[in-house]
Amino acid sequence: MNEMDVDVLIAGGGVAGSAAAAALSPLGLKILIVEPKASHGRRLAGELIHPPGIDGLKQLGLLDENSGIGSEIRGFSLFPYDPDQEHKESVTLPYSEVEGLTHGGMAIEHQSLKEHLLEKVKTFPGVEVWMGGRVTRIEKTDDGQDYCTIVTSETGSTRVSARLIIGADGPMSQVRKMTGIPHETHRYSGMLGVEVDDTHLPTPGYGNIFLNPLGISYAYSVSQGRARVMFEILRGDDSKESIREHLKFFPAPFRDDIEAAMAEDKPLAAANYRIVPQSNVKANIALLGDARGCCHPLTASGITTAVKDALSLRDALVAANFDFHAALRKYAIAAGRVQLTRRTLSEELREAFLSHTNEAKLLNECIFSYWNNNPKGRAHSLALLSTLDSSILSMGAQFVLVVMQAFRLLPSQIRQGKLGSWSLSMLKLAFKSLSIPQTAVRHWLREQHAMAK
Ligand SMILES: Cc1cc2nc3c(=O)[nH]c(=O)nc-3n(C[C@H](O)[C@H](O)[C@H](O)COP(=O)(O)OP(=O)(O)OC[C@H]3O[C@@H](n4cnc5c(N)ncnc54)[C@H](O)[C@@H]3O)c2cc1C
Repeated sequence: MNEMDVDVLIAGGGVAGSAAAAALSPLGLKILIVEPKASHGRRLAGELIHPPGIDGLKQLGLLDENSGIGSEIRGFSLFPYDPDQEHKESVTLPYSEVEGLTHGGMAIEHQSLKEHLLEKVKTFPGVEVWMGGRVTRIEKTDDGQDYCTIVTSETGSTRVSARLIIGADGPMSQVRKMTGIPHETHRYSGMLGVEVDDTHLPTPGYGNIFLNPLGISYAYSVSQGRARVMFEILRGDDSKESIREHLKFFPAPFRDDIEAAMAEDKPLAAANYRIVPQSNVKANIALLGDARGCCHPLTASGITTAVKDALSLRDALVAANFDFHAALRKYAIAAGRVQLTRRTLSEELREAFLSHTNEAKLLNECIFSYWNNNPKGRAHSLALLSTLDSSILSMGAQFVLVVMQAFRLLPSQIRQGKLGSWSLSMLKLAFKSLSIPQTAVRHWLREQHAMAK
């Protein structure tokens, strides 16, 4: 077997892998990215990037004004579900209302984004990209403390020894599996999507989100004149039937454009998972991006957090003066906290938007009442969604403020004879609001336990 020594081996040349290489290159490290796929294939994946993600990519030197890809996103436009009305007014959450954000986000067609980042990072000092290679084995090093990787390509196998191994190999991470880090997996649903002309996009310049009990659909411009449309297909639902129902909530001219595009092109597909690994580091291995865990794409924060992971890892290495093990402990805490808030937020929102329980319906109404009546509330929500604010306690406080909207809704609930159901739902939501600080405490105790080990 061939032998090779590098400072950092990165499994995966997606957003997380490229961002990690760009973050570590200025530290003077020798970095090898191993990416199995010469072309990334055609699957649906993340395209909306929040302003902190765009800032991170710019800071890393991976994106600039001349990159010539993507489309600006000024915020989100959410269309609530109302069974009595096919098309409802949307609520707009603009980034411009959020203190601390000076510009918008972007949407970039996923394959173009990945290819752009990998092409760019190839030119960084110390970075080599090995296309067509795959990490196929992880072994203990001779000292029994750390790990090294076996990379297999057409030319055979190479044992690559590295001071740091980065698993940036996506949600089904083989690095995570081969290292023996256990994880919980839950498959929520499937997703189907096409690209269409963006002329009739309901709220141009925004991420359009349509809520209905069949799942969540999304529409946003990804480049000059083109928009992505995606439909969530719940487990057990027939996809054609489900898309037909989803389309009822789209305004007519845009719906016609989508139907025409679907008649011409086979839709792209993906699955929506929640994956929660027990840890995001082990010995000299760090998991970044979706390998470190993923959640429902409702918050559109996978790319932004992958970029944040890369920046956290770089900062941890510098702060720990290149003591790799100490740096990984710091990274584990920083990345774990961002992920906890993002995951909890996506779970709570998904429950409120899709669950059929009375308390979920009340929470859904409370969320829209909060956004309609409170500009500061809108700004706080978008700060959390965009990961500008990644504190779980902040999220807990926002949850309480949202639930308080139920009192504003009380007179109409009484008029509709729903006082009994309102009271029971409020009791359940009050308990739920306690569960968020409890989650924070449990997470903090786990962090202390991990540090003590
Ligand atoms: C339908 C859908 C919509 C989404 N929408 C959004 C959105 O709007 N905004 C957002 O921010 N996020 C969104 N996400 C999430 C986002 O796509 C991910 O968070 C992001 O792409 C993760 O990037 P990554 O680099 O961690 O993983 P990936 O993009 O999965 O890259 C992993 C790479 O590792 C490689 N690899 C695999 N196995 C090995 C191996 N053994 N050795 C070496 N390399 C390997 C793969 O070839 C791949 O290139 C969405 C996800 C889905 C499914």
